[in-house]
Amino acid sequence: MSRTDPPESWGHSTVQTACPLDCPDSCSLEVTVERGRVTKIDGGHASPSTRDYICGKVRRFAERVYGEDRMLYPALRKGAKGQGTFTRVSWDEALDAIAERMLQIREQWGAEAILPFCYGGSNGLLTQDTNDAAMFRAFGTSRLARTVCAAPTGAANQGLYGKMPGVTYDDYVHARLIILWGVNPSVSGIHIVPYLKEAMKAGATLVVIDPRRTSLAKQAALHLAPQPGTDLPLALAIHNYLFERGFADTSFISQHTRGAEQLREKASEWTIARAADVSGVDPEALERLAHLYATTNPAVVRCGWGLERNRNGGSAAAAVLALPSVAGKFGVRGGGYSMSNSAAFGIKAAAWVNDTPEPPTRLVNMNHLGRALLEYDNPPVKMLFVYNCNPLATMPDQNRVLQGLMRDDLFTVVFEQVYTDTTRYADVVLPATTFLENYDIAKGYGPISLQLVRPVIEPVGEARANAEVFSALASRLGVGEAEEETETLLRIAGRIKEPVGSELLARGVATPPHAGAPIQFVDVFPLTDDGKVDLFPGHLANDAPAGLYGFQPDPATDRYPLALISPASEKTVSSTLGELRLRAGVLQMHPDDAKARGLAQDDPVRVFNDLGEVQCPVALTPDVRRGTVSLAKGLWRRSTYNGSTTNALVPDALTDLGGGACFNDARVEVALLGRH
Ligand code: SF4
Repeated sequence: MSRTDPPESWGHSTVQTACPLDCPDSCSLEVTVERGRVTKIDGGHASPSTRDYICGKVRRFAERVYGEDRMLYPALRKGAKGQGTFTRVSWDEALDAIAERMLQIREQWGAEAILPFCYGGSNGLLTQDTNDAAMFRAFGTSRLARTVCAAPTGAANQGLYGKMPGVTYDDYVHARLIILWGVNPSVSGIHIVPYLKEAMKAGATLVVIDPRRTSLAKQAALHLAPQPGTDLPLALAIHNYLFERGFADTSFISQHTRGAEQLREKASEWTIARAADVSGVDPEALERLAHLYATTNPAVVRCGWGLERNRNGGSAAAAVLALPSVAGKFGVRGGGYSMSNSAAFGIKAAAWVNDTPEPPTRLVNMNHLGRALLEYDNPPVKMLFVYNCNPLATMPDQNRVLQGLMRDDLFTVVFEQVYTDTTRYADVVLPATTFLENYDIAKGYGPISLQLVRPVIEPVGEARANAEVFSALASRLGVGEAEEETETLLRIAGRIKEPVGSELLARGVATPPHAGAPIQFVDVFPLTDDGKVDLFPGHLANDAPAGLYGFQPDPATDRYPLALISPASEKTVSSTLGELRLRAGVLQMHPDDAKARGLAQDDPVRVFNDLGEVQCPVALTPDVRRGTVSLAKGLWRRSTYNGSTTNALVPDALTDLGGGACFNDARVEVALLGRH
């Protein structure tokens, strides 16, 4: 009997677990299992913010678990790279082949010629930065700067507040003004939505800042649709308004902040009129927003990740996060800001991963994967080890990434749950368990939550958990010992401070600090060295090419005048579940822009610039601002007519802070397919 063929005697059960995918909400899940197979996934009860419901993406996660793309056993490439044809081998054969190649590369090129490559395919604490990091560190491989997302906002939040926990979803009902800035909770972080609706019902004013008229923007009292990359001038103009019109909270500023004068000086360059002109918004609407913010309490700003994905993204996030300090919005329930709450439990992977110190080896920014594979030569990248990630779909400058993956002298390992775009270029594929088949620890970054992820079914096929595979490989390489997944779980939980670690194992959920709803500057304070808000951190000022809060102009040209954005969709979690998208991705375009190009609804179009071309249908909608076009994030190559996605049009330039990706700096032209 195979492991996927359960005995008749197995019955029905429901299991409480949690979702560790890269989404702020970290939902509690209740999974129904019939005869060893998942039949239903729904909201659980352990985390109150789940409220018994989950997104449509994870509701259908069983389609990934049992789908035709599921990777069932280890395999070696046969045929050319890109064909995606493999021969089944045993785990021992696959791990031996990888270990042998790693040792050979280290001997010939040095271990830095090996590049581990991972991101948040699972955000659980066991699947990344545990046995994987220990193995790669001990072996002395290159290191990876995992900056494709949240690096600029993270740098800003760390610099200004030391990642002070933010306002959690529950407290939005107490706000009288809510600003959603660069975030679309209708598709990502959906559990805030009921609180927004409750707040609005109680009279709160909702403002949405987004280049698209999202469903929440349609319900908002005020919607500003700026040109992508111009959130910084908007935020600075609000600061200028606060300072110049006497709305700055001088008492809070002098008691709790430093750097206000430098921020004020930077903001003084941005009048409402100038910022509105550069951002392409109505100056009256911007002034109305500034006045609303100055005069309404409690007011909360939800700073999203949409505003960071451009050349000004780090400064924009810093300017937005600085607003509640300048306006004195802290100290009341429902007042302040929300960013990532990932640090709220005070758990850092350093507590276990630093058992193996990080070597000072080459640090590769993941957004530069294409150039690393094609240009780095000291040493060249000879092995790419991909896990928790589908870089061919998710990294900038897709065509260069593809060119790199095609290299015959590159040995690529892909450890994955399903056959992705990247696996087609692998030399060895290893099947990974999903979160329904392994233990993990899920940490929310919207709600403050920490939950145990439990296996609810046996591993499908021969899939194995990350913790086991990396420790088995470490053992083969002579840099560690093989470990059962449960041993890793107990070891990691044992490093989490008490009583949190014990409670997590005993109950499956830990009690959050401050009942999961801290008030900023009452319960939680900046975690900076001196406990003050640093409104102009020196290291950020030095890092940013135009200085902190320095604006870099739009990269549009006459040939490529349209801004292309790639926002999150209701279909995928980043690129996870992209294999289940059956219909082509659709480019959204304003009817006026379409008319100027002779395009009609559903026309097949080419979206292009000097980096590449994407072919897909177009949909005309006034919900996207003129001059901007939108194609969903996370598409796989199968979701367009020509196998290229938005990332084929995205430069691998880096954001001003944090080394992040400039996804929204793609500038393109659009034409009817077949017309050149
Ligand atoms: S992806 Fe987000 S909303 Fe969906 S189940 Fe997971 S945590 Fe909940």
